[in-house]
Amino acid sequence: MPEPPSTVEPTRPQDFIREIVAEDLKEGRHGRRVNTRFPPEPNGYLHIGHAKSICLNFGVAEEFGGHCNLRFDDTNPTKEDVEYVDSIQEDVRWLGFDWTDRLFYASDYFEQMYQYAERLIVEGKAYVDSLTADQIREYRGSLTAPGRNSPHRDRPVEESLALFRQMRAGTFPDGAHVLRAKIDMASPNINMRDPTLYRIRHATHHRTHDAWCIYPTYDYAHPISDAMEGITHSLCTLEFEDHRPLYDWVVDSLSAAGGFHSRPQQIEFARLNLNYTIMSKRKLLALVEQELVRGWDDPRMPTIAGLRRRGYTPEAVRDFCTRIGVAKKENVVDVALLEHTVREDLNRRAQRGLAVLRPLRVEIENYPEGQVEYVEAVNNPEDPSAGSRKVPFSRVIYIEADDFMKEPPKKFFRLSPGSEVRLRYAYILKCERVITDGAGTPIELKCTIDTESLAGATASRRVKGTIHWVSAAHAVDAEVRLYDRLFRSEDPGDGGRDPLTDLNPDSLTVLTGCKLESMLAGASAGSRFQFERQGYFCADLNSSASAPVFNRTVTLKDSWAKISAKAGK
Ligand code: ATP
Ligand code: MG
Repeated sequence: MPEPPSTVEPTRPQDFIREIVAEDLKEGRHGRRVNTRFPPEPNGYLHIGHAKSICLNFGVAEEFGGHCNLRFDDTNPTKEDVEYVDSIQEDVRWLGFDWTDRLFYASDYFEQMYQYAERLIVEGKAYVDSLTADQIREYRGSLTAPGRNSPHRDRPVEESLALFRQMRAGTFPDGAHVLRAKIDMASPNINMRDPTLYRIRHATHHRTHDAWCIYPTYDYAHPISDAMEGITHSLCTLEFEDHRPLYDWVVDSLSAAGGFHSRPQQIEFARLNLNYTIMSKRKLLALVEQELVRGWDDPRMPTIAGLRRRGYTPEAVRDFCTRIGVAKKENVVDVALLEHTVREDLNRRAQRGLAVLRPLRVEIENYPEGQVEYVEAVNNPEDPSAGSRKVPFSRVIYIEADDFMKEPPKKFFRLSPGSEVRLRYAYILKCERVITDGAGTPIELKCTIDTESLAGATASRRVKGTIHWVSAAHAVDAEVRLYDRLFRSEDPGDGGRDPLTDLNPDSLTVLTGCKLESMLAGASAGSRFQFERQGYFCADLNSSASAPVFNRTVTLKDSWAKISAKAGK
């Protein structure tokens, strides 16, 4: 059955960036155009933090009738790979955004960037420096002490130009020289103390291969890419605030050179931080490389690919991004809000099913052998249009092992010796006898049903508890993977420890021999269900196993709803 569409209401976000854009349009700035961009470096998979940036950039463009470019900021060949280029496109598309024909690569501008750099040299705005990296750091000064001029700062233009050409030609080894902007070594802003524009790096690039052995820095490449593409609003995270004067310097120094289609404006916003989560691509890569998770799309990963495989809907991720909003101040968002958002979406959409994760066999002694009866089960109580289905009931069924207790405490309203419980959509069941193994663990229950108690019947009695079940003869075996938080600490790695030491050892529980209602066996990869009383589950996307595999997306317990109710939100 196709999944019904999301009922998440698109609310129009309001934030300081949208205010700026609206004002710019009103005042006729940027030629009354809006063109944003999402500029990932293809050195890892996208994560939930990137989703915030994607929703912002594509969202603003859409709302103001503009465009959003997808640009790979591929200026560092040693860490980048086509695998990442491909996954990033897949993930942006999955989130529901379309860059149409606006797919760009910073590496496509390498020649132009090089020509601009020669121009800066000729105009006395850049020079080749031959200090070592350590010396450059030492000469840079500190937050309290001004920097010192490099002895090569005033080298003649012709000499810098000749050296820069030799750098390009491959004459020098890595680190022998760099190209630096000539700005101000005494600037209170360290980023303005003759920042490096080009480095020598003899490395093969995933697109330009061996055409280049010098590569531009982010601070040089980014503003040029923005201006060449006609970007109007260049939205980035707060750590680039102190780089903005340099961004402007690059654009202003080169705007007379031709080839720029805008005077882009950099605006910074606070990045998304989530508790119990890390978002450093370097650390996420370490998790993958050290096989602490099963790949970038492991459902425990905060990557878009991981969330997708876990069963998150793109609508829920976008809704989450709307709810957290965009602000200028750093904060930490509770991951329970993300879980709440997906739970809300799935509650409205997901077809219900019966699944017994830890089966306990039940024989109903007063039900005829070989008889099968079909009971009516509701597909989604939140969505009457989803209708109902017939579920087979027979003499031997499975129930959840922990829905039975030999010696129940008070207020245990499920099954125990001599007690009664309602079988969801079916009869009232009474436990007559317990069969245990040598250790006293129940392995089978002998029960009876009240044959007059079929659910929905007018004369039906009421009992306190209701449990789920599946008919043994009709059940399908499956593997079910239960996920918990990947990190046990709210702020993994706080106090300077390696976050990987905070891994939750119980983040994955694999259950085999789970018993599913047969309807679930035919679930197509990626389809999502609520297993009644258990949570939301998604048929695994990557499973090659013969038995179906389901990933738990989220449990039914909503800690966020509790938190926000308490806070009166
Ligand atoms: P790094 O630069 O260390 O590789 P990054 O996470 O900044 O990591 P990019 O590929 O440069 O990776 O990010 C692409 C875009 O996504 C940037 O504009 C960046 O500001 C934005 N972004 C990255 N992380 C977050 C986050 N946690 N919240 C919001 N935006 C983010
Ligand atoms: Mg970055």
